[in-house]
This record gives sequence, structure tokens and C-alpha cells, in this order.
Amino acid sequence: MRKTIIAGNWKMNKTIAEAVSLVEGLKRELADCVDVEVVVCPPFTALKTVSDMLADTQIKLGCQNMSSEDDGAYTGEISHTMLKELFVRYVILGHSERRDYYKETDFWVNRKVKKALEKNLRPIVCVGEKLKDREAGNTEKVVEAQVRGSLADIPAEQFEEVVVAYEPVWAIGTGKTATSEQAQEVHAFIRGIIRDMVGDQAAAGLRIQYGGSMKPANAKELLSQPDIDGGLIGGASLDANSFISIVKAGL
Ligand code: PEP
Repeated sequence: MRKTIIAGNWKMNKTIAEAVSLVEGLKRELADCVDVEVVVCPPFTALKTVSDMLADTQIKLGCQNMSSEDDGAYTGEISHTMLKELFVRYVILGHSERRDYYKETDFWVNRKVKKALEKNLRPIVCVGEKLKDREAGNTEKVVEAQVRGSLADIPAEQFEEVVVAYEPVWAIGTGKTATSEQAQEVHAFIRGIIRDMVGDQAAAGLRIQYGGSMKPANAKELLSQPDIDGGLIGGASLDANSFISIVKAGL
């Protein structure tokens, strides 16, 4: 009942010309893919071009951040109106790189999540512990605080539009993947928190992606876990063949 969702987070990579070449590769294999929901999240500068290229496909467009405000004097920010004009459907919020380098707190992630939902954009809300948290036995404590803080005051019915991405920070871009058991354990834990926050139905329907060095070699094993409903893919989404293989592992 939960459709697998595989999203590519291109981060600060790909010029417009490079984006065109990557999307041409993806379209060859994934243009009509409906059994897995496929999302690509280019940098803002390539959104318009990629949006035009995806118009006649099943591949959805996402982005990597969004302002919590509507418009006005917010230098460097991008609003929901600007994103929707480009047919963006998903917005990655609270990625660990934004939490770490730009000091985004749960408070701000929560404001952005609420704004996205109010404006019919689907948030992909990232949570995950750092290596020092895991080593200190604090994984659940850290993840629970992020889930409760980032998703505070969201009504149960809006959870249909929400995707959570569990991304252990120590596995992002490091080549170290959480084992499928480690990932499944935290995914089930997150679903339990959501159950406690908004009830059984919303928790059962919520899609929870795994992110952290997911690649063709480990995707199938991770995606076969009962509470892993997809992947948020960084490095491996920059290469068409790798991303296509990961999507196929979710079929
Ligand atoms: C990410 O940053 O969302 C991510 C999962 O990166 P990678 O796949 O490169 O670990």
C-alpha cells in the first residue's frame, strides 16, 4: 500500500548542460515508470530546464530547500510560489548538510514543512544521527527529537503528503551504509513515533526513505525491509545508470 519512492538529491552538482545529459539518460529508462515513484531534485539553477524536460514523463520534480516565508526581503531565498511555477512537487527539508553547515534547527524545518504542506508541496523531511550519537547509544533519542520537532503540529491527514528520510549522517557520502537491520530498526522506531503522534492510520501510510550511500549493490536488500519505503540518493543519483539500477531494485 506504500508506493516505493526513489529520489535523487543532486546537491550542488550539475550545470544546466550536465543536467540535460543526465535527464536524457534517465528518461530513456524511467519516463514511463509508474510502479516506483521517481523524483529528481536538481539545484535551483537547473530546475526550469529539467522541469521542461520532464513535462511528458512520470518522473517528478523536487528541489533541495525552500523558504519558510511567502515573499519579500529574504535575500538568497526561494519561495513556494517560485517553485510551483516550475511544477516542483517535492521539497527536501532539513537535510543534514543544511542542519550542520547552515544551522537549520527543527524549529525552522518545522516552519518550512508547514509552509510546504499549506501550499501543496510535498516535504521530504530528513532526520538522522551523527556517528558520535550512535556511538554514545543516543540514536533513538536524537532521531526522536528531530521527528517530533520537525513534524510538530501537523494534522494526521496531512501525513499522506509527507515523506520522511532517515539518513544516518555517518553514512552520507562516506560509502558506509547502515546495514539493512540497522536501518530497519530505526525506520520501525520512526513509524512508532508517528503512531504515537498522530495515530495508526497516518503511521501505516507514511513513506520512510533510507538515505546514506545507497547504491545499486545494496539497494535491493535495503528496499526489501518492511519499513523501508524508498531511498534518498545522493552520489549515486548523479550517474544515470546507477540511479536507474536503484529504481529497478525497488520494482
Ligand atoms: C544524501 O545526501 O541525501 C545522501 C543520501 O547522500 P549519499 O547517497 O551520497 O550518501
